[in-house]
Amino acid sequence: MRESSKKRLNIPKLISGIINGNIVSLSKAITIIESDNINDESNSKKIISSCIKEKSNSIRIGITGVPGVGKSTFIETFGTHLTNIGHKVAVLAIDPTSSINHGSILGDKTRMSTLVNNKNAFIRPSPASTHYGGVAKRTRESIILCEAAGYNIILVETVGVGQNEISVSEMVDFFLLLKLSGAGDELQGIKRGIIEMADAIIINKADGDNIENSNKAKSEFSMAIKFYPKRKSNWTPKVMTCSSVNNKGIKSIWDVISEYVTATKSNNFFNENRKSQNKYWLLQTINDKLQSNFFGSEKIKKELEKQYDLLDNKKTTPFAAAEILLKI
Ligand code: GDP
Repeated sequence: MRESSKKRLNIPKLISGIINGNIVSLSKAITIIESDNINDESNSKKIISSCIKEKSNSIRIGITGVPGVGKSTFIETFGTHLTNIGHKVAVLAIDPTSSINHGSILGDKTRMSTLVNNKNAFIRPSPASTHYGGVAKRTRESIILCEAAGYNIILVETVGVGQNEISVSEMVDFFLLLKLSGAGDELQGIKRGIIEMADAIIINKADGDNIENSNKAKSEFSMAIKFYPKRKSNWTPKVMTCSSVNNKGIKSIWDVISEYVTATKSNNFFNENRKSQNKYWLLQTINDKLQSNFFGSEKIKKELEKQYDLLDNKKTTPFAAAEILLKI
């Protein structure tokens, strides 16, 4: 079944479909890129190298926050605002849980029911991946495809729990952290490092009884970030409140992002940052490949078991064992 469907695949046609903004072609191409099947690798490379040549004036925005903070509701409202003012919006997700339990808590189409029916929006759930680092890499490649298909605003959603925020910040131009008022950072599971990465901190659910608390949280955060180290971008992070359900504060968030883009394009950080992100992904890809080649080797697997035993029995040290494994 897979073989026969693969034979029918016309890659040049698929690529021109993407470039003409055909959603079916775009979805199919992303599936090829996400595939673990070795047979899809060369098609995947062809697609990416054609798409990367397409001119794009995109803005890539990362959105993070703990589950329940309102990411999908925010994306729904924010994305709709953007399409209303003439943009084409793609929503991608990086979900670390999707590789663990094969279920995704992000990017689920049913969560964004308005946006999913919007012809100027494209929503893609998080890829499930078994590879180390694979999910982020695939999302990074999907961005390129979405841009070639004419989406000029790319929203990359992730759960604010740690490691994958670093990957997201290395693939976006602007990083937005959603928070709730009245709960400490520990309660929200947000690490200080993530706060330091944010170009804007948005206190969501600033509505009803929560307005006062949200404003208080906004002042506290505005004070706190004054002590954070200065950014290479020269940008001072903004703290804002919004209500995604009532569509309050959404326009101001877009205004701030636009202000950021103008400022960082004029001081050239925008372009320099994208260049250094490319270098990051080059090195990251090498690291991933080296790791998967190394740990995928049968010889290594066997020797590793042996060294584990020796280690358990205090007959070697972790460093001596590593030396032996690296020499194989
Ligand atoms: P996610 O897990 O971060 O994607 O959060 P969801 O978007 O699924 O939202 C979690 C819950 O918070 C849902 O019940 C939403 O209706 C609610 N919610 C989201 N945004 C707001 C908001 O601006 N105000 C209020 N009052 N509730 C909100």
